[in-house]
Amino acid sequence: MMEPSVSVGRDVAQVAAVPALSLHHVTVHYRQHEALHDISATINVGEQVAIVGPNGAGKSTLLKVIAGLQPISSGTIRYFGVERIVPNEIAYVPQRLQIDWRFPVSVSDVVLMGRVGRIGLFRRPSRHDRLLAQRALERVGLAAFANRQIGQLSGGQQQRVFLARALAQEARLLLMDEPLVGLDIPSQDEIFRTLTTLRQEGVTVLTALHDLQQAARYFDRVMLLNRTLIAFAPAREAFTAANLVATYGGHLHLLSSGDGLLTVADSCCNPSLDNTL
Ligand code: ADP
Ligand code: MG
Repeated sequence: MMEPSVSVGRDVAQVAAVPALSLHHVTVHYRQHEALHDISATINVGEQVAIVGPNGAGKSTLLKVIAGLQPISSGTIRYFGVERIVPNEIAYVPQRLQIDWRFPVSVSDVVLMGRVGRIGLFRRPSRHDRLLAQRALERVGLAAFANRQIGQLSGGQQQRVFLARALAQEARLLLMDEPLVGLDIPSQDEIFRTLTTLRQEGVTVLTALHDLQQAARYFDRVMLLNRTLIAFAPAREAFTAANLVATYGGHLHLLSSGDGLLTVADSCCNPSLDNTL
């Protein structure tokens, strides 16, 4: 029987130590407007991170930049140790509003598109590809909807189709922009369940979120963003009054309740947002 060699063990340890993502002094402009200023952060493999901040904070910009859809003005981004995007390794789920839902494709087509990067644009999907797509749909609870037109699904189901596409793609890094907006509670729960599956598989997840309570509850660390990175830590450390005021400024009402928890209401953009931390 072969003994595992010492050098193999060390290699594994070194690979594990490479972060999924590292941003080094990243600054982003839209013409003259500086949308992100000097962002540095390291995200570990398998970590699930929520990005929170008011409207216009740069959450979507940050995700687009990481997805390679928006150029940076300065700084560097490394993916799994290299300064280059490997498209198959990254799945980006944009905000729902940005997707044309009338596009006449079936649910299984959308999920199979996740395989295009692996199989090439002009090759037919193999049985293996179809199997992966089917499994991905099962994992988000949508196997029964495979042949429906994407436009016929509810908002929550559509969001889960895009998650299934990311699963079928076998991406190592999943970027989601406000995936819960407009979803009912069961659909939100389904998405959080899928996050648990992704955690078991070691997929690294970055999600822009509106809800601070959900950020605290479901994610390993939160980024408090408002053009600059105000804090990047587990929610308990990140959600200090000072950090929240720095992030949300005058739009935030902080109320201290009897048990020492903070109640946060963001009056800026979403009157229904009212979280108890
Ligand atoms: P968030 O997702 O946190 O609401 P965004 O990343 O969408 O923030 O926007 C950050 C800033 O960049 C805002 O001031 C916004 O107006 C600006 N911005 C976003 N997209 C564009 C664009 N395509 N062209 C010009 N400015 C933009
Ligand atoms: Mg946004």
